[in-house]
Amino acid sequence: MKINGNFNKLQDSYLFFNIAQKTSEFLKKNPGAPIIKMGIGDVTLPLPQACVDAMKKACDEMGVKETFRGYCDYEGYEFLRQAIADYYKEYGVDVSVDEIFVSDGAKSDVGNILDIFSDENTVLIPDPVYPVYVDTNIMAGRKILYIDANESNGFTPEPDYNVKADIIYLCSPNNPTGAVYDRAGLKKWVDYANAQDAVILFDAAYEAFIEDKDLPHSIFEIEGAKNCAIEFCSFSKTAGFTGTRCGYTVIPKELVREGRKIGELWLRRQSTKYNGTAYIIQRGAEAVFTPEGRAQIKENIDYYKRNTAILSEALSAKGIQYFGGKNSPYVWLKCPNNMKSWEFFDYLLTKCYIVGTPGSGFGKNGEGFLRLTGFGSYENTLIAAERIKNTL
Ligand code: PLP
Repeated sequence: MKINGNFNKLQDSYLFFNIAQKTSEFLKKNPGAPIIKMGIGDVTLPLPQACVDAMKKACDEMGVKETFRGYCDYEGYEFLRQAIADYYKEYGVDVSVDEIFVSDGAKSDVGNILDIFSDENTVLIPDPVYPVYVDTNIMAGRKILYIDANESNGFTPEPDYNVKADIIYLCSPNNPTGAVYDRAGLKKWVDYANAQDAVILFDAAYEAFIEDKDLPHSIFEIEGAKNCAIEFCSFSKTAGFTGTRCGYTVIPKELVREGRKIGELWLRRQSTKYNGTAYIIQRGAEAVFTPEGRAQIKENIDYYKRNTAILSEALSAKGIQYFGGKNSPYVWLKCPNNMKSWEFFDYLLTKCYIVGTPGSGFGKNGEGFLRLTGFGSYENTLIAAERIKNTL
């Protein structure tokens, strides 16, 4: 028996382990230090009441013979897929219910979608990036090319027609940089992908944080995208479902390669390896789209965004350059005085008692940057901002 040797090529992920290690060592030396965790990538506010109520009701239904449900359709219940399709209409995007596939979250889908693509494909991944794109392709042994996201392109790199790629990852609003593609920027990628017969894997996990009316929430707002893109969405950051687990993937019927509809291949894959998302959870997700649910998720997202605004304001006051901070829960700051990411991490920890996430953990272009997030509490964010203003 041989293991998949590609696993030997994966880099150990020490990022969050090292952060926890350094923080606990600091606390050992400075017991009771009022540390504030601003590197946190998980939500902290509870689920919207509309979702809780819907799930309770669904739970009761499961306990009654007449309303009990067993295995669900692999692609999700129609009530949820219809609610998602209606949501897309708000952005002028026409997707039909059978182009929507419900799942237990964007991370699984982003990884699992690779099952339907040949390992011979070349993959193009921006750097810095959400590490899942890189690791899932290393596991499959695919050739990976990187495209530089950096200060000079505002962390929204454009395609280079000299580079040939088959699968392209885009994440907007971006984790970790908070950068968001505008329509013109996305159009360039759509044109490039169509010219190369490539497929764009568009991660829209943070679309709900977009507030600027001009910015696209979906790649399908861009002409030509239905021929070349798959979109991944999540209720995790939108509605606090990180522990509840629900997401969805949109694959347009127009997306065809080698005579095969990609959506049909995905359904074939899912029906073989996935047995559907729990009814109770799907009812909770459906409630996100009700008027009460919409109002409650807006309140939570506004809360997080007020935090990022406070952090951004503190950085501006100190003349520290940053990206994101708006239309995103992430603030991606340039470490002052040319400090390296870990150097500035240590500085923030020891001088301000603030824990951030070193940008170098997201790729080589993340070196010299640090990620702060709005997912903490308002009170702690205010204190952190004061410490930044008084210390840096
Ligand atoms: N995509 C991006 C860019 C993320 O940052 C995350 C989580 O942090 C995910 C996907 C995962 O989403 P989910 O919780 O739906 O699996």
